Amino acid sequence: MKLYQKTTVKEIQEKYGFNFSRNLGQNFLIDKNIIDKIIAGTEIGPQDTVLEIGPGMGVITAEAAAQAKKVIAVEVDKSLLPILAETLAGCDNVRIINEDILKLDIDKIIAEETAGGGEAKVIGNLPYYITTPIIMKLLEETTVKSITIMMQKEVADRIKAAPGSKIYGAISVAVQYYCQVEKIADVPKTVFIPQPQVDSVVLRLVRKEEPGVGVLDKGIFFACVKAGFGQRRKTLLNSLQTIRGTSKAMIEECLAAAGVEAGRRAETLSLEEFGKISNEVYKRL
Ligand code: SAM
Repeated sequence: MKLYQKTTVKEIQEKYGFNFSRNLGQNFLIDKNIIDKIIAGTEIGPQDTVLEIGPGMGVITAEAAAQAKKVIAVEVDKSLLPILAETLAGCDNVRIINEDILKLDIDKIIAEETAGGGEAKVIGNLPYYITTPIIMKLLEETTVKSITIMMQKEVADRIKAAPGSKIYGAISVAVQYYCQVEKIADVPKTVFIPQPQVDSVVLRLVRKEEPGVGVLDKGIFFACVKAGFGQRRKTLLNSLQTIRGTSKAMIEECLAAAGVEAGRRAETLSLEEFGKISNEVYKRL
């Protein structure tokens, strides 16, 4: 079944009375070339377990299942379950979980499927309304090492942004702290049904062996990032004072000790500078 053809998607839609849900970010891929690029970017081997976020009608799932040992596909929309039962009928190595990915204990599910302790590669054409929470969950709450995902171009640009750029923000620092980022493909909005408003990008995130910067306390590091970008127009001296337990005098001292001018703004700071400041804050709290 050629799920990447518009006519097939329309036939399935009619057969099952399926309506696309805008609220669930349902924009289905109808381009074999892009699907191939996502699959190739994931580098799936015959012993691999793959976790797919949002299989939709199964267009990526079927290709992944042909290469992987096992595919776990997490889909929140119940009305897609009978469709997936048909489109993936020949794939015995796929387990569909009808759950909200944000509520799932991902490491537990992976451990179940890999007889404990195993790894899984994450793949997905993400529902765009929760792109950032999904990425943050994968990075902070799981041990997943490889994530190949499609997202709106604007988010991908922010993730890759360097210090000094207007779009450099908390998500750039967070992803670059945990991962190496590689662009796999640019994807025009014309290859989806229904067509979204914006273009997309496929990124591959590979967890670093060691974080992008060594810090004394990860919680304080991210508190500095959050405070700095929470009020990005303010100087660091002003924005960092919002961290609980600090004061203007203390932040002044921390910035001086870290060798960072108090009048700078968060969007100019490298990971290393955030690291140095957070270490000084940690020592004084
Ligand atoms: N993989 C399919 C494709 O490429 O054609 C569908 C991609 S579509 C952009 C996103 C999918 O994620 C939809 O099937 C949608 O129902 C599902 N989804 C939305 N929110 C979800 C959630 N919280 N947890 C799991 N799946 C979700």
